[in-house]
Amino acid sequence: MAGGTLTIDLNAVRQNWRALDALSADTVATAAVVKADGYGLSSAKVAATLADAGATWFFVAIAEEGPAVRAAVPQDAKVCIFGGHMAGDTDVLRAHDLTPMLNSVEQIDRHLTALPGHAFGIQLDTGMNRLGLEADDWAQHRDRILAQSPVLVMSHLACADEPDHAMNAMQLANFHAMTDGIPVRRSLAATGGTLMGPDFHFDLTRPGVGLYGGFPFEDAVAVVHLDLPVIQTRAVAVGETVGYAAGWTAQQPSVIATVSSGYADGLIRAQSGRGTLYAGDVPCPIVGRVSMDLIGVDVTHLDHVPDALTILGPHQGVDAVADAAGTIGYEILTSLGHRYARRYVPG
Ligand SMILES: *Cc1c(COP(=O)(O)O)cnc(C)c1O
Repeated sequence: MAGGTLTIDLNAVRQNWRALDALSADTVATAAVVKADGYGLSSAKVAATLADAGATWFFVAIAEEGPAVRAAVPQDAKVCIFGGHMAGDTDVLRAHDLTPMLNSVEQIDRHLTALPGHAFGIQLDTGMNRLGLEADDWAQHRDRILAQSPVLVMSHLACADEPDHAMNAMQLANFHAMTDGIPVRRSLAATGGTLMGPDFHFDLTRPGVGLYGGFPFEDAVAVVHLDLPVIQTRAVAVGETVGYAAGWTAQQPSVIATVSSGYADGLIRAQSGRGTLYAGDVPCPIVGRVSMDLIGVDVTHLDHVPDALTILGPHQGVDAVADAAGTIGYEILTSLGHRYARRYVPG
C-alpha cells in the first residue's frame, strides 16, 4: 500500500477540549466547533467524543453539515449553524433539530415565518464585518427578537490570535453595548478569545482549532500524525536535478527519497523547496517541487532510509507545516486528503 497513514488521536481532542473548558469558570459552557467536517478530521467522530466528554453545544458552518453531527450526539445536545437560515434550509433544520444563528433581518423573517417556535440564536457583527446583524438593525429589531426567546446571542472576534490587537477591546465593548442586560445566553470567544481570559468568556466559549491541536492554543496536545511511505530512493549526481521544472539541483552526490503524497493530498505546493519531513528525530528537507502525488526528500545524511517519513508528528505540528507553506494550521488541517488511510485512536 503506497498511501500515507493519517493517525487522528481522539483522546487528544478530548484532552484539548477539557483543557480549554478548564480555562473558563464552571458557569461557562464550552462548545465544540466541528465545521468543515471537524477541521478535516471527522465531525461525527469528534462530536461523539466530545459529547461523551461533556460538551452539549456543537457548531458547524452550514446546515448541510448538521445531520452528521446530529446523528453523533445525544438528542438534547444543540447543533448550531453559524451561517444561519438560508433559503432551502428549512426542511433540514426541522428534520435534524438544528439551531441556526440568524445573521440578518431577512434570515430572521424567513426563520420566524417558516419555523415558528423552532430554536434559533442571533449573531451580531461587533466589527469583523463578516456575519451578523449590525448595531442599528439590532437596535431596531431587538425587542421583537427577544420576544421570541433566542437560545444564544453571539459575535466573533477578528483578531483574537493577537491578544494585544486593538480590535479585541473594541469588539468586546461593542458586544457589551449591544447585549448587556438581555436575558439570553451570550458568546464571543473562539479559541483565541477563550485564551484571552474571563472578560471574553460570557456564558459560552466556542473553541475550534485548539481542539485539533492548533495555534493559538500553544498548550494543545498534538492530534494528527502523518506518515508518508517512501516509494523509491535514488542516487543523484552533482548537477542532476529533481522533479518538475528541474526545481532543485544536487550540489553534492545526494540520495533522494520519493514519498507518496502531494498537493492533491493537501500538502500544499507552496512548501516546495521549503518544507521538512522527519526520519525519526532527523529532519530531511523537501527538495524541488511538490507534485500532485509525490514529494522529493533529501535523505543523503541518513544511515538508513526508513519505509516512511513523517510530516506531521512530534517534531512538527500543523502550524510548522503551515509556516513552510505560507499558510495557517487551520488550512493544513482542513486540506488533509482523502487518500490517506485514516486511523483513529479512540477518545
Ligand atoms: C470557526 C469559528 C469558531 C472557531 O474558531 P477557532 O479559531 O477555530 O477556535 C468560532 N466561532 C465562529 C463564528 C467561527 O466561524
